[in-house]
Amino acid sequence: GAKSDGRNGFQFYSTDLNTASLGELLLENQLRGALDRRELLLYYQPKVSAASGRVTGAEALLRWQHPELGLLSPGRFVPAAEEAGLIVPIGEWVLRTACRQLREWLDGGLEPVCVAVNLSAQQFAHQDIVGLVQKVLEETGLPPALLELELTETMLMRDVEHTTEVLGKLRALGVRLAIDDFGTGYSSLAYLKRFDVHVLKIDRSFVNDIRSDGADGTIAAAVIALAHSLGQEVVAEGVETECQRDFLARHRCDLFQGYLFGRPMTAEDFAGQIGAVAHG
Ligand code: C2E
Ligand code: MG
Ligand code: MG
Ligand code: MG
Repeated sequence: GAKSDGRNGFQFYSTDLNTASLGELLLENQLRGALDRRELLLYYQPKVSAASGRVTGAEALLRWQHPELGLLSPGRFVPAAEEAGLIVPIGEWVLRTACRQLREWLDGGLEPVCVAVNLSAQQFAHQDIVGLVQKVLEETGLPPALLELELTETMLMRDVEHTTEVLGKLRALGVRLAIDDFGTGYSSLAYLKRFDVHVLKIDRSFVNDIRSDGADGTIAAAVIALAHSLGQEVVAEGVETECQRDFLARHRCDLFQGYLFGRPMTAEDFAGQIGAVAHG
């Protein structure tokens, strides 16, 4: 027990803590070199137009091909990367890689798609994100409207003055702006109007609520109506069933993203899907 071995009692309690933080430290240390070792990669998940059934976009999703642990999802390492400040260089790599990939696709004659990149709070708060986006667009010569930046409500609400200024500048560059996981954070409707983004992404949890009889789709339907009243497009994330798709389509959702239409996949696999009619 903790107290039975006298002065080692403290040891008892700290062991678990040390084990946990050791694992995190190890991962964090390995993550430092992951970029240089080319262990990071992007997967692409299709976004499908409700009107045409075609793939018109993709979300770039970060993966880490860890030498021992295998393919890791961002949930396993992005929080550590944010804490260590590593998300800034990693995020820059993500943006550049996604834009280069799209350039390659376009040069290869593939039908143009809009590629969305997730930004982290740190990139938005501390980095010259406007300068970076501008530089990458120049480097790759991409039409700016083919790049979409996904931001969360929490990021946007942290410093609304800063947000208004940065969003205005990004908008002026011609890129598309989306609020990710909409409905899970805290943003006031007044700011939603002021921030003036192009796209709202309904959080997966509200899509998941939609049952086969359409019950519990209230929030998803309300988000769609809200977005449209503000002149914004709506993407539903996490669409897994035909019932969910049909409900969302009835409520005039613009784009679908979810396992029903395609899981996140390699760039190569995604290229094979562009132009194809989705069968979801
Ligand atoms: P997100 O931006 O909301 O991305 C959508 C997540 O939902 C992805 O998880 C995707 O695989 C998953 N998803 C898509 N469709 C379905 C579905 O039908 N069912 C279910 N159960 N899940 C679905 P993933 O790839 O694990 O990414 C998790 C989060 O990590 C992302 O959430 C995003 O917040 C963050 N993230 C991913 N890539 C990056 C990145 O490059 N930079 C930063 N800062 N964050 C990233
Ligand atoms: Mg996202
Ligand atoms: Mg999301
Ligand atoms: Mg999400």
